[in-house]
Amino acid sequence: MSKAPNVYDAEPIPEQALEEISRMLQTGDLFRYTSSAASPVALLEAEFAQMMGAKFALAVSSCSAALFLSLKALQLPRDAKVIIPAFTFAAVPSAIVHAECKPVLVEVADNYRVNMADFEAKLDDSIKAVIISHMRGHTSDMDAIMALCDARNIPVIEDAAHSLGTTWDNKNIGTMGIIGCFSFQSYKLINSGEGGILITDDADLIAQMIIMSGAYEHNWKKHPVVHDRFEFWQNKLPLYNLRLQNLSAAVARAQISKVPERVINGLRNHDYVADLLNKTPYFSVPDALGPESRAPDSIQFNLVDFSDEQTLAFADETKRIDMAVQVFGLSKDNARAFWNWQFIGETPHLPQTRAMLMRACDVRLPARLKTPDLDYITNALIKSAELVKQAKAVA
Ligand SMILES: *Cc1c(COP(=O)(O)O)cnc(C)c1O
Repeated sequence: MSKAPNVYDAEPIPEQALEEISRMLQTGDLFRYTSSAASPVALLEAEFAQMMGAKFALAVSSCSAALFLSLKALQLPRDAKVIIPAFTFAAVPSAIVHAECKPVLVEVADNYRVNMADFEAKLDDSIKAVIISHMRGHTSDMDAIMALCDARNIPVIEDAAHSLGTTWDNKNIGTMGIIGCFSFQSYKLINSGEGGILITDDADLIAQMIIMSGAYEHNWKKHPVVHDRFEFWQNKLPLYNLRLQNLSAAVARAQISKVPERVINGLRNHDYVADLLNKTPYFSVPDALGPESRAPDSIQFNLVDFSDEQTLAFADETKRIDMAVQVFGLSKDNARAFWNWQFIGETPHLPQTRAMLMRACDVRLPARLKTPDLDYITNALIKSAELVKQAKAVA
């Protein structure tokens, strides 16, 4: 039998980054504000905004930093309540705590999307903002979310950290909320090791976020788009220094032209495995909602009619054959299980999300994988499930 494919390695960085990086190493020109307006970070912002069809972009040190700056720019009072889906990465409630606000978690259904009844019930007058995490690229009903929030004048921030390339009703993810935030951490579609970027069409918000990201004195003049809101905010805001540096920007820029190809290959890989898993009695891969076109680099599926013991046995079996599956709610200290977020205070009662996390499995499927790799992974999953289910039949 062939070896299990490595699903964690990243893709090589396109060679065109090398020339720019060696120039920077020779000149030491690493800080975005040292030289002219056209620093690699400023070029990345202009190119990313253009790709997304947004007026403004700001590159920062992480998606978490982008979320934090978004909340600060909304000028939320201390302890303001911010809704998030209960299925997200710990960095998201952390950004809310960092901004001195309070996360309110809403239920997520077993299709990994926001439970709209719970969302609507919790969207009361105490809610000052909403962050929608498109977790693992799964898009919730953005039409319903935007209609409910617009009616109440509640700003929506999109956490599109892991969703670059996804569209909803032909609109780019991250362009429906007032601000969209993306990550360049190595497991995301564009990999610069660490880094993030936010987009918006709002001139006032971008001026605030640029200044707070660390455009001290008049460095905002070196951003691709300059307007009068910068003068207005000059000296009125703290400087949090969450900038991106030129090396990371050169690495990220070289991958922008790769996005369409990675989206196509990632979706092909996902749908190939999803079809095979859905043909078995063991697994269920939820469908995307109608308006969504996905850009996955991993697959999530639910175990069907597995007990806790069988679920654990399945995870152990996949580990034994080097094809380790993470069950979000059963792997110890998982950062995507809301009951592990002790820093938010009392654990909320969210039985639907909890039940989903106890059976939802996570396997990376990078766009670079080829059909034999996908077959290997699929067979490993099916064999592991068969073993577990047959053990029960024998016992
Ligand atoms: C990766 C990720 C983040 C955090 O991004 P960083 O750039 O590491 O801060 C936030 N939300 C989601 C949904 C993510 O996948």
